[in-house]
Amino acid sequence: MTIPVETGGTSRKAKLTIDRDGSLQLKAAPDVEQAELEHFLASKRDWIYRKLAEKESLHYEPVTKELVDGEGFLYLGRSYQLRIVDIDDRRVRLQRGKLNLPRALADPGYKHVIAWYRTAGLTWLKPRAKDWAKRLRVDPQMIEVADLGNKWGSALPDGRVRIHWATMQLRPALVEYVLAHELAHLREAHHGPTFWQLLTRAMTDCDQRKAELANTGAALWHGDQAQLS
Ligand SMILES: [Zn+2]
Repeated sequence: MTIPVETGGTSRKAKLTIDRDGSLQLKAAPDVEQAELEHFLASKRDWIYRKLAEKESLHYEPVTKELVDGEGFLYLGRSYQLRIVDIDDRRVRLQRGKLNLPRALADPGYKHVIAWYRTAGLTWLKPRAKDWAKRLRVDPQMIEVADLGNKWGSALPDGRVRIHWATMQLRPALVEYVLAHELAHLREAHHGPTFWQLLTRAMTDCDQRKAELANTGAALWHGDQAQLS
């Protein structure tokens, strides 16, 4: 069953609603032409994004993690179990499907886990940034992985592109969406039609990726540690 929670636009012949789970419902009279529907949808695009973004902020509940054996951490869309290991190492490592945290770093080890996201993330992002920069014909000066608060990424006029380490928990297609989106800002600072045209030319399914990001993004860990009660 779907429960419409927001009614977006109505035209004489079509009606667009967003359900509680973020899915879109388009109802149209049988005689409406495909082109007319596409035009109607395109005209509602800003409304859709705004509503999906509001939904995300309304439903946001901080995800907390405990630094104990077996706690799951997402990386590029897959979950890896944490394992506290008794080894003389000063780094968190992903090995044989486990995220190994040396016991000496376990308190307050979440800093070290975040440091791992930043290092691993940067290694993953660099070649992809090169690739997307080429397609978007931009010239980034530096790619960084940082804590950006409630933003997925940022692009500065001096050519620095930053990606939130929490983004690295998403599946690769969505991380690449965030990356390409920020790189596109090096050519177009604002979210106007030119920006979306530029991004859509390079990434034809960017609309779907954006909607999926709005839906799943709030469920990611942002570095909060579970409070011991
Ligand atoms: Zn943007």
